[in-house]
Amino acid sequence: MTTLSFASLPLSRAILDNLDNLGYQTMTPIQAQGLPLALEGRDLIAQAKTGSGKTAAFGLGIIHTLNSAMSATQALVLCPTRELAEQVANELRRLARALGNTKIITLCGGTPIRPQVESLKFGAHIIVATPGRLMDHLDRSTVDLSRIRTLVLDEADRMLDMGFYDDVKYIVSACPPQRQTLLFSATYADDIRQASARFLKKPAEVKVESVHEASQIKQVFYEIQPDQRLATVAQILEHYRPVSTLAFCNTKAQCRELSQHLESRGISALALHGDLDQREREDVLVQFANQSCSVLVATDVAARGLDIQTLDAVINVDVTPDPEVHIHRIGRTGRGQAKGLALSLCSPDEMRWANQIEKYQGQPITWANPKTLKPAPGGRLHPPMITLCIQGGKKDKLRPGDILGALTKDAGFAFEQIGKINILEFVSFVALERGIAKAAYAKLSNGNIKGRRFRMRFMSD
Ligand code: ADP
Ligand code: MG
Repeated sequence: MTTLSFASLPLSRAILDNLDNLGYQTMTPIQAQGLPLALEGRDLIAQAKTGSGKTAAFGLGIIHTLNSAMSATQALVLCPTRELAEQVANELRRLARALGNTKIITLCGGTPIRPQVESLKFGAHIIVATPGRLMDHLDRSTVDLSRIRTLVLDEADRMLDMGFYDDVKYIVSACPPQRQTLLFSATYADDIRQASARFLKKPAEVKVESVHEASQIKQVFYEIQPDQRLATVAQILEHYRPVSTLAFCNTKAQCRELSQHLESRGISALALHGDLDQREREDVLVQFANQSCSVLVATDVAARGLDIQTLDAVINVDVTPDPEVHIHRIGRTGRGQAKGLALSLCSPDEMRWANQIEKYQGQPITWANPKTLKPAPGGRLHPPMITLCIQGGKKDKLRPGDILGALTKDAGFAFEQIGKINILEFVSFVALERGIAKAAYAKLSNGNIKGRRFRMRFMSD
């Protein structure tokens, strides 16, 4: 039996205490399998589903070997998108609290390169980057990868899907051959194994089975005719009334159609797909994560890797032809102790895919008639929160405490009525309980935050 206590690992007291402070009591399965090998200095190919704690699995490996007294860049993490890079950098910062002064920077496209160049002059212990932007820096000689000890390829399958292979190859060749390479991925097809084999030395492979405990997730399939698809999604939402739902579609067009249909029925929904620019994506994710949007409609690619904590339900608007993808999708709900709801719509011509899923998961599918979906009492399905966007951010030295203070101490609202606060470079988002939103807006826009007035507006109504 593998032990799940972090204390069983050769980690310093400071790192263990910090994990305790973060509330990481036991290792997740991929950490339990991967960390002992990573800490030995082995190369690693690790596969586990989204949300299984892969970041800490390589993050602790990085932190463990990092010498913060040495200013050279010692670790590099490559991610497919800026968003994932930011997520990884944030988690690494939390883990690195154990070391004291550790500089972690992200180098991603979509933002000006100048400030990055300036920031690099002061040195960075860890760089988290997307391949394209890092290549730019290599070409300008504004980064030095010659002292890298740990190289991580995160979401490696997706980097390859997105056509980053040549960039990754180039970047790897700029790292010293004497290094540890860790490859993390949610799926792991043979072509990835082959493509990445040349980056790794005698890698150990660890894989956590992605089939879930049937008891964690209530899974139901509804047989529908194709023209009933969109309406049935709405009926499901009105019947189960989940606070946060991720609805998967196979195509972008389907995403758009569904979010429009739901909006027309008074259900707040936002679509996440490849055509959005970075700012639009951020707006969508902030509103969904802080519970001011009920449904996020996404393609598999768009939803990959996103760390969304509380998902009450996953809806498969189409059945996916790949059973592994299905298992991934439904695994986004029912994390930890909470029980999840996974509902799939299946048209007659998708039946063969449902059969494949049944075989793959080794459990019979529960079928229900969509006619049993009756709206539950409670009127319209409203999200509990509304997002207020404040035209001031990090650049204005705003911090979450400033906004919380203005709302609670100055304006007299209760702590519980205020939700998530996200501070970005130029704007901030604060989630407000629906019932107090108007009053809070009135007080905040007529008063001040940290002695200053900011313009603000609601993201939706
Ligand atoms: P993945 O990369 O596998 O999709 P993440 O690394 O983003 O998953 O982790 C998902 C969430 O789990 C994060 O919010 C992270 O802080 C949390 N987490 C990771 N490891 C642990 C642990 N051992 N105990 C509790 N929470 C954890
Ligand atoms: Mg991850």
